[in-house]
Amino acid sequence: MKTRKAIIIGAGISGPAMALQLRRIGIESVVYEGRSHSDTSEGVFLGLTPNGQNAVRDLVDLTLLREKYTPGKMEFYNALNRKIGQLDTARQREQFGAETIQLKRGKLNGLLRQAALAQKIPICTGKKLTSLRQTGNGVSVTFADGTGDAADLLIGCDGVHSATRKLLFPGAPLPRYTGLLSTGAYARLPGMESLFGAIHMVFGEKAFFAYAVSNQGEVWWFNNYRRAEEPSPGEVEGELTAEIKRRLLQLHRNDPHPIRAIIAATDAIAAYPVYELPFLERWHRGAACLVGDAAHATSPHIGQGASLALEDTVVLARCLRDIPDAERAFAAFEARRQERVRRIVQQARKVGDNKTSPGKIGQFLRDLLLPFFVRREAKKSNWVYAYREDWLRPVTG
Ligand SMILES: Cc1cc2nc3c(=O)[nH]c(=O)nc-3n(C[C@H](O)[C@H](O)[C@H](O)COP(=O)(O)OP(=O)(O)OC[C@H]3O[C@@H](n4cnc5c(N)ncnc54)[C@H](O)[C@@H]3O)c2cc1C
Repeated sequence: MKTRKAIIIGAGISGPAMALQLRRIGIESVVYEGRSHSDTSEGVFLGLTPNGQNAVRDLVDLTLLREKYTPGKMEFYNALNRKIGQLDTARQREQFGAETIQLKRGKLNGLLRQAALAQKIPICTGKKLTSLRQTGNGVSVTFADGTGDAADLLIGCDGVHSATRKLLFPGAPLPRYTGLLSTGAYARLPGMESLFGAIHMVFGEKAFFAYAVSNQGEVWWFNNYRRAEEPSPGEVEGELTAEIKRRLLQLHRNDPHPIRAIIAATDAIAAYPVYELPFLERWHRGAACLVGDAAHATSPHIGQGASLALEDTVVLARCLRDIPDAERAFAAFEARRQERVRRIVQQARKVGDNKTSPGKIGQFLRDLLLPFFVRREAKKSNWVYAYREDWLRPVTG
């Protein structure tokens, strides 16, 4: 039987993982990445929960993810620096086979790309998808540099602003800026090493701020704040640092040490506008299918973006392995994923709504009730973390 070939658009988190999963089932891929460089250091850090680690454990050595990381345990503090709750992750290992960590996006991206390259899967950079045509027995594409390619199938792994999505579904709604700017960065400050062990989630007087110390003694921090105007891509790439720094120092002017010291010691701050993608009823058309953020971008509040994208790649590979017709395989993938993804996206939105700072009475009640809410949220997350695909079980269409 002829070997099937796939074009994969995007070499972010899901692209190289998808190519590796397809290799396991005998489909050859070429990954096309729009960015012109092969540097993977962009981005700050992201959460990889047990379900995400279980989805990637056949592709990369999980111990490598822990070379530089911060643990997933959370400790919650109020504006007076009083500990008001905690969320332990120690039992996740026995419950789910892995424990939540935060790691640099570039590290995960780099490991996945290296694993693909080690298996001789080509990753071509500087290839921005601009057109896509269904040919009857596959797809053909062209890139901004005038080159093109054709294959039996195409998987769009090109993120929240997916060109594949726009080309497949020209009428589909565009991602909407939520008015929330997610910011994050790294800093080095003396004497912080002893704080290794938990993410400090501080409900400050006017805004929320979170920081953790990595196993290498570096401080990793993030914060969300309201910014009515959507930043342009140029601003996002670094120009906003001075503005964010000023704004955060102001917002946290009365908050406990070391928040202001961390902000002051930071050189470059990454900014990610938070987008909401209205739920798409369909993720596939003809010989092409969307996965990860391209299909279902989620807000960052429960750290599921990367984990969901990685889960997708396992499910789609199983469907393509067991259902020979690509379009039917895509339909089976969609049917298996939509309900789970929809529930998680909704859960993330709700958590995001709770991070804004209420008035004095609201703060008092939040401090009082937080331990209860934390336990309730932890229980609510069990079904998310427990998810594990059984690779060997056949899929029926
Ligand atoms: C540069 C960058 C930095 C990020 N940093 C963070 C972070 O710090 N924290 C966090 O939580 N999430 C971050 N994210 C988002 C996070 O990686 C995703 O939400 C999640 O991992 C889902 O992965 P994905 O593979 O679906 O999409 P992504 O990881 O976003 O990958 C999409 C890929 O497609 C490429 N692409 C886009 N358009 C085209 C096109 N027309 N043709 C070809 N290729 C194209 C992009 O360059 C990118 O490499 C970042 C995304 C990017 C692109």
